[in-house]
Amino acid sequence: MNKRYLNTFVVLFCIELLTGIIYMRTGQWVFKPQWKLDTIVGSLIHLVWMVMIFSPTIYGFVLWHLKNQHRQMAIIQDKNNKFESLFLQNSSAIIVLDPTGKPLRCNPMFQRVSGYTLEEFRAMDHTALQDMLQYEKWAGYMQQAIQGEDVGEFEVSLKTKNGQTRMLTNSIIPMNKFQQIGGYYVVMRDITDTRQAQLRIWRMAHIDELTTLCNRRTFTDHLKTALEFAEIQSRKLGVLFIDLDGFKTLNDGLGHSVGDGLLRVVGQRINDCIVEIDGDSVVARFGGDEFAVLLPSIDNVSVPIFVAERILATIQPPCSVSGYELSIGASIGIAIYPVSGDSSDSLLQSAGQAMYNAKRNGRNRYEIHLPSMQQATYSRLKVENDLRRAVHIGNEFFVEYQPQVDIRTGQIVSAEALVRWQHPLLGRVPPIDFIPVAEDIGLIGKIGEIVLRTVCEQIRSWKNHNIPAVPIGINVSASELSEDHFVEKFGYTLQRFHVAPELIAIEITETSLMKNEQKARAAIYEFRNMGIKVFIDDFGQGYNSLGMLKHLSLDYLKIDRAFVSNIQNSLIDRSIVSTLISLAHFNQWKVVAEGVETLENLQVLAEENCDLYQGYFFSPPLSAQELENKSVENPLQFQLSGYRN
Ligand code: C2E
Ligand code: CA
Ligand code: CA
Repeated sequence: MNKRYLNTFVVLFCIELLTGIIYMRTGQWVFKPQWKLDTIVGSLIHLVWMVMIFSPTIYGFVLWHLKNQHRQMAIIQDKNNKFESLFLQNSSAIIVLDPTGKPLRCNPMFQRVSGYTLEEFRAMDHTALQDMLQYEKWAGYMQQAIQGEDVGEFEVSLKTKNGQTRMLTNSIIPMNKFQQIGGYYVVMRDITDTRQAQLRIWRMAHIDELTTLCNRRTFTDHLKTALEFAEIQSRKLGVLFIDLDGFKTLNDGLGHSVGDGLLRVVGQRINDCIVEIDGDSVVARFGGDEFAVLLPSIDNVSVPIFVAERILATIQPPCSVSGYELSIGASIGIAIYPVSGDSSDSLLQSAGQAMYNAKRNGRNRYEIHLPSMQQATYSRLKVENDLRRAVHIGNEFFVEYQPQVDIRTGQIVSAEALVRWQHPLLGRVPPIDFIPVAEDIGLIGKIGEIVLRTVCEQIRSWKNHNIPAVPIGINVSASELSEDHFVEKFGYTLQRFHVAPELIAIEITETSLMKNEQKARAAIYEFRNMGIKVFIDDFGQGYNSLGMLKHLSLDYLKIDRAFVSNIQNSLIDRSIVSTLISLAHFNQWKVVAEGVETLENLQVLAEENCDLYQGYFFSPPLSAQELENKSVENPLQFQLSGYRN
């Protein structure tokens, strides 16, 4: 409002005020209404007065309104500019979608992250968007946003134009337009590098970099957790401590890169083999050539033993590292919760001790840690477990044949089949160490079947190749004799292989006879009826035998080697043998002397009129091939007996 305007306003205001005062004093208007001129002038003055009063207000209002509008526009423009630069320069990737989720815009950061240009992005339809984003997850959140729900931050992966995968955290922000959703801003933060760095740090703390297996720390954590569960569930848990044999020499000799390569292969092999057996197990490298395996829940000791055997077998085959063909073994210590310890430290320590025992006992083997009182039961337990496995597999047993020779003619007239167990780690286990166990745990029948089958196949094979064969004696134990239908099954096997009963003999020990005399007698009777010869084995060991003899019908008596080995020096032994031979002959049985090791043994036996002998003097137990060769050396000694056609 300018000054002149203000002056006019003040003058007019004063005239109006004066006129008012005069009217109040005199009761008369200065300008009389009857005067036309007054009326016109008064109206004019009032009009001007009104205009003067209101026009600045109207003017001011219009002016204020225009200015305000201008300011609003400027603010909006400013906001828009700010938003645009926020959109364009944002360090987050931002995309704008229409209400149906179709791409509208994206900012340069999104273009940088995804590799797509703005045009390419805008040209994308839903399918293309699906291809680019982990859509199902993404669409779920999008749906929530469409339904007006508040969607927090979530992670999805994005496939870039050149095929890489990036990790993004996303927020969907609905764009409100006239009370309705006009589209969506999706703000994405590329967290791939952060995730990778986190993963690297995690791996450094938890993973052994060389083999990518767990490291000691992670293993111990797993072990502690597994121990808690094992305690709650009252279950066993196994820890295997593996140390490679001779790794240091190899590493020093061929260089560390070759050593590292070998460790990688070994780690991989252990892991593959364990994963196959138990998906919950944990494999770790503790450093150097030490590995460990955790079996978090086991039913019995046979599980870690089985695992240890598998590891040994898996590690051993040669592998090629940097052009070298390398082969390495390992020593494994097994600890079992709760017997070997009840904390992670004590279990690892026990497994370590057992591993050193394995090293001391010849390497490339496993040992189990048990408190000393349990050690004795363990070896028995170990044989039991191994036997079960071996019987199940079946191919670890084979048969050797020890010739039985006619003392007068020197001819091989028969042979005894003796079973052998080729243990994958222990090598050959003598029958004395596993036959009694097999009898106790009810496996002898299965082993007997394996032996009988092997012998029948061998006789068949000799027949097929026109090689003459002698009767083969098969050892039958007391528990086999007690089995129902044992003789029947035995006979059935012979039939199946087309083997004549004359080519098979059975050897029953005197002690077996005494265990279940009735059943044994019945079985002997049936065998003999079938045409199978019966030998009483180890005669003299039972001290109770002579009385029993008169009730028996049999074919051969085998005198125990205890009476034979010193027969030339011991009058007592000689007189016992002499009596037994007379008794046998009186009953029409022939006599076989076992364990003949020297010519002197043989000479006395010949003088005492013994019929057959068997022993190292003539031959130890032989393979089938060796038995054939032995017969070829002197074909006359290898007599042909009949076959059933
Ligand atoms: P056995 O039936 O008395 O078998 C003879 C044992 O004496 C064999 O031992 C044989 O190798 C051994 N031997 C042979 N000649 C001599 C010798 O001149 N001197 C000495 N010191 N020993 C000699 P092996 O093979 O260790 O068998 C031991 C026992 O295992 C057998 O005694 C037999 O009772 C049992 N056995 C072997 N195979 C079987 C089988 O298939 N079934 C059953 N149930 N028992 C079997
Ligand atoms: Ca025997
Ligand atoms: Ca014997």
